[in-house]
Amino acid sequence: MYFRLNPECYLIRGKKLGAIFDLIDHKIYALNELETEIVTSCEKNNSIQGERKFLNELKQLCLGNFYSNRSYIQKLRVGSPTIEKQSDPPELHRAFIEINNSCNRNCWFCGHNGIKRSLGCMGCNKWNENGRPLSIERWKEVIDELKDLNCMDIFITGGDLTLEWDRTIDILDYTNRKFTNIYITLHRQSLSIDKINELAGKANMIIQTEDFNDVQSLDTASLLVTRPENFENIEGIQGKNIMVDFIIERGNLLPKDLPITSKKKIQPGSMYQFFNNIEYHPCLGHTLAICFNGNVIPCPMMRGHSFGNVSNKELYAVLKSEWERIDNFWELNLDKIEKCCSCEFRYSCADCRSLEESLTGKLDGKMLCNYDPSEGKWS
Ligand code: SF4
Ligand code: SF4
Ligand code: SF4
Repeated sequence: MYFRLNPECYLIRGKKLGAIFDLIDHKIYALNELETEIVTSCEKNNSIQGERKFLNELKQLCLGNFYSNRSYIQKLRVGSPTIEKQSDPPELHRAFIEINNSCNRNCWFCGHNGIKRSLGCMGCNKWNENGRPLSIERWKEVIDELKDLNCMDIFITGGDLTLEWDRTIDILDYTNRKFTNIYITLHRQSLSIDKINELAGKANMIIQTEDFNDVQSLDTASLLVTRPENFENIEGIQGKNIMVDFIIERGNLLPKDLPITSKKKIQPGSMYQFFNNIEYHPCLGHTLAICFNGNVIPCPMMRGHSFGNVSNKELYAVLKSEWERIDNFWELNLDKIEKCCSCEFRYSCADCRSLEESLTGKLDGKMLCNYDPSEGKWS
């Protein structure tokens, strides 16, 4: 008698343990050591010995089935990595455009102060960087170039975008109907009812605030910037419309349950996400950011890596000439990250490369995780 996992169920092995990923029900089953060995042996088409009770449980969960003969199970796949890799121009799914770098506030956690944030890319930042801001005409050309590259999602950020409101609206109007999703980030204190009304129907707003009361009263998506020490007070509020941006300092004593270090960072996603994560970094893959001065970087917070500048050059030309370097970021899947490479959860785990790089000093370093894959234990 033999037992095989169903086509939609993948066994992913770590150094010590394994996990079954059910790509249809979007569930992950973490296995203990014995269970890992049993499923590994079954997936190698070895006949089953005395493990029926456990395998019956897998069958009850619709994860696999018994076979009287050795069987070849064609695993479910979506997309074609070969075709994707050959695609020219490469598939750009998401772009951040930072259309200004000015703000009259001076939040202590802002990018120019070098503070590390877990979701700084969703918020606003100003930077101590040189270079002439792109003109509105050039931004419109860049938007067309992004459209030509089939970019789907666009995030419009600053600075305080309300300081040059007419310009912001002009650029926003220009993006209209060119992308599947358009997001714009604004600070809570810059907003008025008039501005909210003006944005309605044009973009999805992400409102940054440090005030816990704001996020409860806002109807739009909000980004709550806070210290990890406050996690206990806000634990219940995270949801569809509220993202929490943790400020991470080297000396922070991080609460055990923090979503960016605990089991909560493992997110059973769609099968597209699973296959994407086998090939690409879960966040940096298919993503680029264009800074206020035209610099093209891997993401809004990774300021130290520039692929070129679009002030006087088309975006496509930057992609073409720097493709190998860009691809090194896109393909930085968790197989290439220290610690994660030996973890069974590596194709379903969230990872902020920008934050990890700034905390460890290494592009492939990992600090924010309480799991030890070599022992199979959460601390
Ligand atoms: S409002 Fe945003 S851009 Fe302005 S200082 Fe604060 S974090 Fe920086
Ligand atoms: S961060 Fe890495 S080691 Fe930790 S759970 Fe995720 S994939 Fe595993
Ligand atoms: S790596 Fe991803 S999550 Fe982290 S700052 Fe960059 S875009 Fe945001």
